[in-house]
Amino acid sequence: MSDKYVYSFGAGKADGTGKMRDLLGGKGANLAEMTRIGVPVPPGFTIGTDVCLYYSRHHGRYPGGVKRQVAAALKKVESIMGTSLGDTGDPLLFSVRSGARFSMPGMMDTVLNLGLNDRSVKGLAAAAGGDERFAWDCYRRLIQMYGGVVLEVEGEHFEEVIAKVKKKRKKKLDTDLTADNWKEVVSAYKKLIRSRTGRAFPQDPHDQLWGAIGAVFSSWDNPRAVTYRELNSIPHDLGTAVNVQAMVYGNMGEGSATGVAFTRNPATGENLFYGEWLPNAQGEDVVAGIRTPMPIRPRADSDLPSLKEQMPAIYDKLERIRARLEKHYRDMQDIEFTIQGGHLWMLQTRTGKRTAHAAFKIAIDMVKEGLIDQEEAIRRIEPAQLDQLLHPSFKEKAERTVLARGLPASPGAAVGQVVFSAADAEKWAADGRDVILVRLETSPEDIGGMDAARGILTARGGMTSHAAVVARGMGKCCVAGCEALEVDYKKKHFKVGKKVVKQGQWISIDGTSGEVMSGKVETSDPELSGDYHTLMKWVDKTRRLKVRTNADTPEDSRVARNFGAEGIGLCRTEHMFFEGERINAMREMILADTEEGRRAALKKLLPMQRRDFEGIFKAMDGLPVTIRLLDPPLHEFLPHEEDAVKAIAKSLKAKPSEVRRRAKALVEFNPMLGHRGCRLGITYPEISEMQARAIFEAACNVSKKGIKVFPEVMIPLIGTEHEFNILQDIIVRVAEQVMKRKKVKVKYLVGTMIEIPRACLVADKVAERAEFFSYGTNDLTQMTYGYSRDDSGRFLTDYIESGVLRGDPFQSLDIEGVGQLVELGVKLGRGINPKLKVGVCGEHGGDPESVTFFHNVGLDYVSCSPYRVPIARLAAAQAVLEESRATWRDR
Ligand code: ADP
Ligand code: MG
Ligand code: MG
Repeated sequence: MSDKYVYSFGAGKADGTGKMRDLLGGKGANLAEMTRIGVPVPPGFTIGTDVCLYYSRHHGRYPGGVKRQVAAALKKVESIMGTSLGDTGDPLLFSVRSGARFSMPGMMDTVLNLGLNDRSVKGLAAAAGGDERFAWDCYRRLIQMYGGVVLEVEGEHFEEVIAKVKKKRKKKLDTDLTADNWKEVVSAYKKLIRSRTGRAFPQDPHDQLWGAIGAVFSSWDNPRAVTYRELNSIPHDLGTAVNVQAMVYGNMGEGSATGVAFTRNPATGENLFYGEWLPNAQGEDVVAGIRTPMPIRPRADSDLPSLKEQMPAIYDKLERIRARLEKHYRDMQDIEFTIQGGHLWMLQTRTGKRTAHAAFKIAIDMVKEGLIDQEEAIRRIEPAQLDQLLHPSFKEKAERTVLARGLPASPGAAVGQVVFSAADAEKWAADGRDVILVRLETSPEDIGGMDAARGILTARGGMTSHAAVVARGMGKCCVAGCEALEVDYKKKHFKVGKKVVKQGQWISIDGTSGEVMSGKVETSDPELSGDYHTLMKWVDKTRRLKVRTNADTPEDSRVARNFGAEGIGLCRTEHMFFEGERINAMREMILADTEEGRRAALKKLLPMQRRDFEGIFKAMDGLPVTIRLLDPPLHEFLPHEEDAVKAIAKSLKAKPSEVRRRAKALVEFNPMLGHRGCRLGITYPEISEMQARAIFEAACNVSKKGIKVFPEVMIPLIGTEHEFNILQDIIVRVAEQVMKRKKVKVKYLVGTMIEIPRACLVADKVAERAEFFSYGTNDLTQMTYGYSRDDSGRFLTDYIESGVLRGDPFQSLDIEGVGQLVELGVKLGRGINPKLKVGVCGEHGGDPESVTFFHNVGLDYVSCSPYRVPIARLAAAQAVLEESRATWRDR
């Protein structure tokens, strides 16, 4: 007996279950699960993903036993349905559907009505009570889909045929076409297939079946699918399953229909059935934008007849299934259904994609409804999705000229220049431009362009169209089905009435209201909902890691505090030297010949720095603020333009040529490894002295006003404990002096940034005197790999594509290598000083996967940019919930 490759489902029984998604794909697993829980599903079978991998590795061959198992599964379906594939009198037809572990646009599309041929089409008409129109409509759909996806004849050729027949017969809609018209289409289609492929459309139903199965498996390796997997970090070695399922017909007249729905509103999260349907339609008619779909329930924004009004009995059944599925899956579902002559069939269910806003509402509501607990609610929010909530929206009072209104398909505000193709979107975005991709409707080929665009605007399609679903998944603003738009791809413009908007012109789209506006409309910061705050309270109760922010200004500090930052983990002081007149004082200091000269220049800087720190301390009242001493290489401050050189010369009372000579002398070959960080403070102690003075004077000043300050002075870039000790002595001396003079005591710490691999190795020595460590994982990554942060772009993409690296180590911490250094440093440091405070302040502090690691190695806090603070909080809580399941080493 060979292995089991084929899993049957039907008539209340299934070989598979909903848990077997790896093997059966998402679609197949859920078809089995729905069958098991008694939801009406047309019978069929699923061929496992392992067959796909075998097929891909063995040049299109199948493992032994597959053919036999398919034949047996086919028999089962035939006996449930009481007819068979190839029967010419009452043919049993099938759909062949792909279905991977993760829903994946770019894979082969579904083939419907498989099994029809020139003879059985007549049988189908007879079996449908003599409905010839229906039978020929099915047949032409089969040839069109099979021709498109299996035989690879471009879709537009088929569209042309239909358009020609419509024109000739003076018909407008597909539904206006008669049986004879469809016959005409079928014979033209068959000619088309023969001329394009050199072969006739296959008449043998079994040939059709295996042709379609093979096409699904091959499509796993097609470029669109590969790109999609790369964009979404889906592994290439999962494979897809194939689902072969008995057809049910939504196109059997007005008593039949097909539809798609969400069990709750995917944009707002509201607990109301939300979806669209079309009578006398099949497959993707609802989402294809050929006809305008109608709402499932009456809706304020539509006066089209709803399913609830048109077919109340079916609607009630659907409502019961909706409740059944939610109770079973304990999550919002995205479903497909078909009504055949008064019978309801479910064709798909899966966890529905939703906006961040909806995700919070649904999670909170489901806790209230008793479907899930608080921990599960925390797990349900994807950190990346949270990002979406924190994005701006249009200012309410901003002036706007509304051109048109479409469906609010995916919320947010986007401002950009109009482009009309995915390729242009990618190109323009690569040049650093903000673009809005405008299409009639999007398709899986457009994914790259959609990803590159700020927002997406389509003229056709509903809330469940490709554009809408994909945009919501990407967290991207989208207005869909804006019917007033006349899009002209050739002329590269769109018209709304008389108004013409050309490629390159600016528009603004509001994915929350559906408005399309001309020009750039002003945006404002996000408003966070009550649901957000409720869930984040649970998050804060759950997590152990503290979350701080990287902020250099009082403004950033305030934003971060609103996002829940519990202090500043990194305040960079170099920005304080670049602005306005400060850069001149700084240049004077660098270019001065003597200590005296330097001190004179530093004196000018002192009050400015002090003011900056006062502002930050006030904004962070009651919370710790980590201030890093000057870090960048001096040459970054050097004057280049002749005017600047002259100005410096004047204030230094030196000749311009002398200034130029000094500047030249300071140029370094490798500044990142040069005279920077603590090395500056050691060679020019007066710089560190001035900075310490500014910090402590500011701290004392605000402390006198009743503000609680906790300065933590951080010495950057140390590689030996001596570097630390020398600078610590200076800071402590100045701090005590200032406090004595000001007659105020403030609590403070002196610690160091750990960003050189050597510092990790000698962390025990450093910890003898350092009061805290903060990992600067950007530099630590740079120095551990020996990759320049500024130049690695050239090869990193290739490295990731060819699998040398799993991902960009500057975005997500390299746990295997850099992570080891972090862990070692923590162990050595805490070995000497068990109370050593340890945090991280690189970009990685806001990366969910890295946050999990930092939690696991026992850091006290992470620090990240203000907008990522909520993401880090959530990731920290999820790390606690994951802890019981696995440690990072097991992954
Ligand atoms: P996708 O993964 O793109 O959603 P599906 O396999 O779900 O593709 O199918 C595409 C369309 O065909 C859907 O509208 C689906 O409901 C419909 N369909 C699939 N199988 C059947 C069937 N057995 N009977 C009727 N319609 C079907
Ligand atoms: Mg599809
Ligand atoms: Mg589907």
